[in-house]
Amino acid sequence: MEMKEMYESMGICSQVLEFGLKIEKQLKERFEAIDETAEYNQMKVIRAMQECRVSDIHFAATTGYGYNDLGRDVLEEVYAKTFRGEDALVRPQVMSGTHALHIALSGNLRPGDELLSPVGKPYDTLDEVIGIRDAVGSLKEYGVTYRQVDLLPDGSFDFEGIRAALNDRTKLVTIQRSKGYATRPTLSVDRIGELISFIKSIRPDVICMVDNCYGEFVERREPLEVGADMIVGSLIKNPGGGLAPIGGYIVGRKDCVERAAYRLSAPGQGKEVGASLGLNQSFFQGFFLAPTVVAGALKGAIFAANIYEALGFDVVPNSTESRHDIIQAVTFGKPGAVIAFCKGIQAAAPVDSFVTPEPWDMPGYDAPVIMAAGAFVQGSSIELSADGPIKPPYAVYFQGGLTWYHAKLGILMSLQKLAEAGLVTL
Ligand SMILES: *Cc1c(COP(=O)(O)O)cnc(C)c1O
Repeated sequence: MEMKEMYESMGICSQVLEFGLKIEKQLKERFEAIDETAEYNQMKVIRAMQECRVSDIHFAATTGYGYNDLGRDVLEEVYAKTFRGEDALVRPQVMSGTHALHIALSGNLRPGDELLSPVGKPYDTLDEVIGIRDAVGSLKEYGVTYRQVDLLPDGSFDFEGIRAALNDRTKLVTIQRSKGYATRPTLSVDRIGELISFIKSIRPDVICMVDNCYGEFVERREPLEVGADMIVGSLIKNPGGGLAPIGGYIVGRKDCVERAAYRLSAPGQGKEVGASLGLNQSFFQGFFLAPTVVAGALKGAIFAANIYEALGFDVVPNSTESRHDIIQAVTFGKPGAVIAFCKGIQAAAPVDSFVTPEPWDMPGYDAPVIMAAGAFVQGSSIELSADGPIKPPYAVYFQGGLTWYHAKLGILMSLQKLAEAGLVTL
């Protein structure tokens, strides 16, 4: 069967395929650059695994307290070496990125301390962790105050505002690398370094933490290499490589990681407990695959940006911008297009492709939200996934794709659904 017929058998008509292939042809150089970054990062991971003498004994399961879990300890060494930290906490007991951020913050802050975000409001789920929105158990309830300095309208750092906000009580600065679902630009590792240098020139002792979600392996360097004290992320995003079924990580300065570990388990126990329950192999293997998985997701994001920009829609980042995370936003301006897009992503999935996503009222959101995900791991956003709130400006956010070919199919299918609904003309 010819390729065209294969795509036809998947429901992609020749017009959509040709449009996609024309766009793909223009992206050759960018894809080559992404492959080079993946190659570099692949070497980093393999080198770390070799230096740590990873062996099949490290894949053995532990249960109960998990004392002397060799695999767990070596996995943490591999993360620390790869990301250039002194120590790491990488655990299935860390339930999500939010949980990892929660223990990093609450482990390192004490009553009377102040937390500063110099890059605007953090990711939504941190509102209640910090106490931006009142919540039981928030840092605010424990007497930790919060201050925020927004980016300037052009996306640059408000250095004077940050200087004024830093005070004797500032203990920890949180820097979110990815824009998440905000409209500000994602920060490159270089820019994070510039910000940390500025902060440390004023307060050398302040802890600089980077929320690294969605940023791992997008560039050759990670934030610890430009002065961060701690990086934090989720294993069902980039570093889990699609194989980790749960988990989160913290890598960085030994004392910072330890304090987070005492919060995760218990004072006095820290990193010494926590059975890996047979998940070590998936964690090692997922980390090994992560650089190429991230490359596939990045190609998908760039492919979509170029397709939808060519059709006249607003895309963030735009078709030519450099990438610092794997998220792509497309503003459609019409609810029907958001729904068609998500239906296309769902229809292209390896799992639950027969399900039709519909908008629904989710707790915590002020408008119905439509979500598409046909994932092996529930909620995994390194797998191809999309969601969009049904409210102006009617934008969808999408990310992931364990392989470039799947990401490509998903985007072609989204275009197919939009074309069938008469929402675009090719
Ligand atoms: C996803 C994400 C989080 C939260 O991670 P969960 O695993 O969804 O709890 C925090 N910050 C950023 C920037 C994220 O992208």
